[in-house]
This record gives sequence, structure tokens and C-alpha cells, in this order.
Amino acid sequence: MPVIVILDDRVTNRNIFSRLAASLEDGLTVQAFGDPQAALDWTAEHTPDLIITDYKMPGMDGAEFTRRLRAGPGGADVPVIVITVYEDRSFRLRALEAGATDFLQSPVDHQEFLVRARNLLKLGRQQQIIRSRAMMLERELKDSERSREAELRDSRERLAQVIDTVPAMISAVDAAGRCQFVNAYQAEVLGIDPLRCVGKDATTMFGPAHRERSQALDRMVFESGRALPSFEEEVIDRAGRARVFLTTKSPLRDAAQVVASVLTTSLDITERKQAESRLRHLAHHDVLTNLPNRTLLRNRLQRELARGRRGDHMFALLFLDLDRFKGMNDVLGHHLGDRLLQAVAKRLRETARDCDTVARLGGDEFAILQTQLSRREDAENLAQRVIETLAEPFHCEGQELGLTASVGITLHPADANGVDELLRNADMAMYRAKEEGGNTFRFYVADMNRRAFEAVRLEADLRAGIAREQFVLHYQPQMNLRTGRIIGVEALLRWNRPGIGLVRPGEFLPLAEENGLIVPLNAWVLREACAQAARWQRLGLPPLRCSVNLSPVQFRKQDVIALVVAAIEETGLDPTLLDLELTENILMENAESVAATLRELQALGIGLSIDDFGTGYSSLSYIKNFPITRIKIDQSFIRHLKTDPSDTTIVRAIIGLGHNLNLDVIAEGVETVEQFTQLAADGCDEIQGYYLSPPVPAEELRRLVEQGTSLPLPAAAGIG
Ligand code: C2E
Ligand code: MG
Ligand code: MG
Repeated sequence: MPVIVILDDRVTNRNIFSRLAASLEDGLTVQAFGDPQAALDWTAEHTPDLIITDYKMPGMDGAEFTRRLRAGPGGADVPVIVITVYEDRSFRLRALEAGATDFLQSPVDHQEFLVRARNLLKLGRQQQIIRSRAMMLERELKDSERSREAELRDSRERLAQVIDTVPAMISAVDAAGRCQFVNAYQAEVLGIDPLRCVGKDATTMFGPAHRERSQALDRMVFESGRALPSFEEEVIDRAGRARVFLTTKSPLRDAAQVVASVLTTSLDITERKQAESRLRHLAHHDVLTNLPNRTLLRNRLQRELARGRRGDHMFALLFLDLDRFKGMNDVLGHHLGDRLLQAVAKRLRETARDCDTVARLGGDEFAILQTQLSRREDAENLAQRVIETLAEPFHCEGQELGLTASVGITLHPADANGVDELLRNADMAMYRAKEEGGNTFRFYVADMNRRAFEAVRLEADLRAGIAREQFVLHYQPQMNLRTGRIIGVEALLRWNRPGIGLVRPGEFLPLAEENGLIVPLNAWVLREACAQAARWQRLGLPPLRCSVNLSPVQFRKQDVIALVVAAIEETGLDPTLLDLELTENILMENAESVAATLRELQALGIGLSIDDFGTGYSSLSYIKNFPITRIKIDQSFIRHLKTDPSDTTIVRAIIGLGHNLNLDVIAEGVETVEQFTQLAADGCDEIQGYYLSPPVPAEELRRLVEQGTSLPLPAAAGIG
């Protein structure tokens, strides 16, 4: 119900105005006051809808009254009509300044009084509606903001929960290497307190070996601004168990698109790896005898061939077939036949050495890959022992059974250079043994005449080639994984054979080693490589280490120290830029004198690398006895990195052991970005391979170095 206040010191006016006001609408209340102060006291407690006041009053005029009303509680918005005498312009002004809303002229026209009062009442009501709408809207707005915030908070919390509970280690580091966050799963696996890690050096979360590689990889992401292809890593958990994780590192950018941190996520694939290795075992073994099958035999043959690249490595492949087994199997029944095959497998395994591979090719066919033999007679002896051990009677389920076998033998490198050729040869030799009545062995006999003729021609061409200087060197760059810079090259020999073109060493080096031509050839290589390396230095290239391959024959027939000293003196090369690549065979052949030679070379400042490491039979603890600087992991291990778990393990172990002995480790034959990343993750120091560049002529190598190939990760691989 509206309330109107009438303020006038004269009773008559007060009564008239009160009556007029009361007639405005039904239910309206009128409060009349003669004293302004009494009116102010009342309005301090109540809020009227309209005030009509006289101007001229004793004690306090209408303007002063309005000013005080406005200043009081609830008085700011009440419409106030001031009644003034017509001429009182200055009074009106004062009343306006004090906050009056409207004026009525005295003597008051009743009609005008009613119209103005009604209008102001209406206006006041509308304003009130608007005010309350505005307030409502404001409240709604606040409510919805509050609920949005709550939702956001909620979803953030849920996200954090998800991050904490996904079965993956998730963490981030900033550019200074400080940990930004670690999820609960990672804290659980590593047995760390996330609250203690945040803001601290992130590397303290892991063991020392893991620490360095993790830092190097983070740096790669910061520098390239791209994610790394995922790689596998072994992590020791809080219980000391080794677990395999598939790890990805990717950049996190700030608002300005600058890489602000690196996010690392690692998925536990331990079980998958175990399942894989079970499947792999099944795929590579014969179920009945648990011997390697044909596939595994082929792999092992391939590796042996890789070991034999230098032509001074011999091995034998024996095929054996049980004589008349099929008939026995039919008569005895398959169950007993199976028992017999298992017994045969056992005896073969006991007859061969641990380093040999005994495989079952199917049915009654077995094979033995005999490694580490120095003479043809070693293979003959093994075949003889196999025949003898099978001749001993077998006792199977109460029966005594006699067996014989036919064995065929082929030798590498004498007979063949490829897996298929070797398998064919051994098979042919085995059939020859069968044809001769079985229970015997035969060697594969090659077409000796043709081979001998080709060897003679090659030798003549080689001699002429040396005399006519048909040889050139190509250089393959080597990159440091920490800096991404080219820090060395390997000099690789090429023969420009007339009518044939550029020939790679695999085709002529084995013969050159056999007939001794390797000695003058390699002397030339050493001098030429030193001269080229010195030339690069004079041209102002950064220091480039130059590696030269040495042959075991040189250590047998030549004064290696004199040769090296002469090359250095002639060319003026800084000896610390020369590196000699030796094979494990060189170390093993004449250990005492070789060690003395190597110590003298080391004293000159020359670096010494073990080439094709892992294919020979020396161990790292053996290498400790020599002043070696570096080991080069053979490419056969790198090729199957990431696909063959045993190679991944071997490579990791070689790197770890090498570092324990203070040796640098370089991987050769790196062809893919995956191999590159895995090696970087495993802490390898340097790489060489087609991924970086194939061997190239000296001029091109110089261009490569001058271009300053930094990490070839983003551009060359085209990832991200
Ligand atoms: P090495 O010392 O192990 O040299 C590495 C071989 O691997 C080189 O073959 C090189 O071209 C090749 N290679 C490099 N990166 C990759 C890659 O990513 N993938 C693959 N599949 N192969 C790669 P190359 O030039 O045919 O040399 C073969 C071997 O000949 C050398 O093996 C070394 O043992 C011998 N050799 C080369 N030059 C000389 C020399 O001047 N003296 C002596 N004694 N032996 C040499
Ligand atoms: Mg080499
Ligand atoms: Mg090599």
C-alpha cells in the first residue's frame, strides 16, 4: 500500500493536502507532519512512496529538509515535491540542488496537485519494478557464475583424478629441468612423494643412468620443439623390479607458443613384452623338441654372415637326416616316434657346444650351425661325433632302438656367402651322404675351377688397381647425440674398377686380406685419410676426428707404429684427430704384442675404437686390458633394434657396460628415426649411419659439416 508524507507547518494546508492525497487511490495512507525534524525522524524508520513538503517552514526550509532526507537511510530514491511561491526562482534552485524531484506552485491548484502526485507515484512504482528486476538479474548472474566456477573446478578436479589414476607415468619439467608435476601413478611406481618433487630438479626422481638420458631427451624436445617418437625404456620400480615402459616426450607451449615444458608419458608394457617374448619363443622354436626352428636358424646364419664381413671368420653348417626314420615311425607309432625325436634332440644338444645352434627343421631333419672353428677338420670331427652318439642304442618306453644318420657339411666363407646358398649346399651334401648308403657325412664340393679362376682375375685386377691408383676414399659422418654436431668421419675404401664402376670393400677386401695386398692398400688409405683430415683443418673446419679401419693382417705383417707415425709426420695431422678402428680379432690374436703397440699409439694421442663390437667373441672385461677409447656397436644389432627385444637388451647392456669402463659408445648402421631415438634414450654417445648420411666424397662431407647439420630429428624424419 502506498504511503504519502505531507509536511507543512500550517494546519489548514496540511489538512487540505492530506485530503487531496488520500483521494489519489484506495487504501493509500497519509502521514502528515508540521515539524520537518519529526518528519525526518519518521522517514528514518519508514520509506514513503512520495513526500510533499512546503518550502517555507520555521527552523528548517524545504530544501534543507530534502538534503537531509536524501542523506538519510532509504531517502535517496523517494520522489519529493516542493511547494514554492511562484516568484521564488532562487529557492527552486536550492531545492533542486538539494535533490527535489518536482515543484508545485503556491497557492496550489488542486487538479495540478493530483496529476503531479499521481505521476510521481506511478514513476516511483515503475522504478521500483525496474530496480527489483535488475537486482533479480544480478542475483541470477551471480548464481550462474558461481555454478560455472563450481563446474569448472569440478571438471579440473576430475581431470586431475584421471591423470592420477591412468596406469601411466605422467610428469612435466620446465626449461630449467625442474619438475612441474608428477602423477600419483608415477609416484607409486617410483616410490616418491609428489609434493617433495614439484619445483625440484626433476632428475632426482630416477636413478643415475636414467637421469642423464632423460635430461638429454628433454633438451632435444626443447630445442626441436617437436615430440619424440616413442621409445622403450627400462625403469626400476620401488620394489627393485625392472619394468619396461613405452615413453613419449612432447612439448607443452605457453600462450606465446613458446615451449615452456616437456610432458613425459610412460606406459607400462612389461606384460606385453613378456607375452611377446613367449610368442617369439613359440615362433622360433619347435614345439616337440624345443629346439630352434628353421626361422631362428636363418636369423643366426644371417648374424654369422655379418660377423664374417671381413672374410677372416669361418663357420660350418651341418644338415642331418635320420636314415629310414619314416619306416620306424610307421611301425612304432607316432607316439614312440616323437619320444625318439626328443631323445635325438637331447643327444645333439649334448654333442654340440653351447655357442653352436642345434635346430630342428621338421620331420627327422636337424641342423647344426657350428661357430668358432678354425679348421675344416673341426666340422668333420663334429659330424663324426654326431654319427657316433646317434649310433648308441636309444631306450624308449622299454624298447631298445638303433638309429643312424646322414650328415652334409658346408663351410663359410669357402663354399658360400648367402643364407640360401648355405642351406642349399648343406642339403646337397646331405643327399650325397644318403646316396652313399647313409650313416656317414659328406662335405659340399663346389665348382672349384670357376671360383679359382675368378680369384686369380680379381687378384690381377687388384694389383693393377693399386699401381694405377684406382682407389678413392669416401667419408661417413658421425654425430654426437648430446650436441647434435658432426664430430668425426669414418674413411671407407672404394675401388673404381674399370668397366664395373665403384666397388665396395666387401667384394675385394677378403681376397686382399688373403693374398696380403691389404698391406699396401691400407697404407695408402691411412696416408690419404690423414692428408684429407689435415686439409679440412687448414680450411678452417671445426676439429673432425678421422677414423681409419685397420686389418688384422697389418698387425701380423707390418710395423703399425712406424706406418702411423710416418702418416702423421708427412701430413702434419694433429694425432688426437686420428682414430684407428680395430676388430676384436686383432686384440685376440696376439694379445701381448698388440697391447704394447696400442699403448704406444695411445701415448701419441691417437684414439682406438673396437669396430663391429658384439660380433666377435671378446667380452668387455677382456677389452679392459687394452687402451681402448671407444666401441662401435655392430649394425646387425641396430638393424633389429625395437623389433627384436634381445637386440634391444644387448645394445642397452653394451652401452651401460661401455660407460662403466669409461668408453665412448658409437652405434653404426643407424637408418631410422626410431633407432635414432631409442639409442639416444639408451644413452648412446654417438651415431653413424644412413639416417645421418651415407659415406660421401670428401667435398660433399665438407659441405655437410659447413651446413652445420644440427639434430636431424625434425626435418629429416618428417615427424610431428
Ligand atoms: P665397417 O668398418 O663396419 O663400416 C661400416 C659399413 O657400413 C660401411 O660399408 C658403410 O657404408 C656401411 N653403412 C654405414 N651406414 C649404414 C647404414 O645405415 N645401413 C647399412 N646397411 N650400412 C651402413 P662399406 O663401406 O661397404 O664397408 C664395409 C667394411 O669394409 C667396413 O665395415 C670395414 O670393415 C671394411 N673397410 C672399409 N674400408 C676399409 C679400409 O680402408 N681398410 C680396411 N681394412 N677395411 C675397410
Ligand atoms: Mg669401420
Ligand atoms: Mg663396423
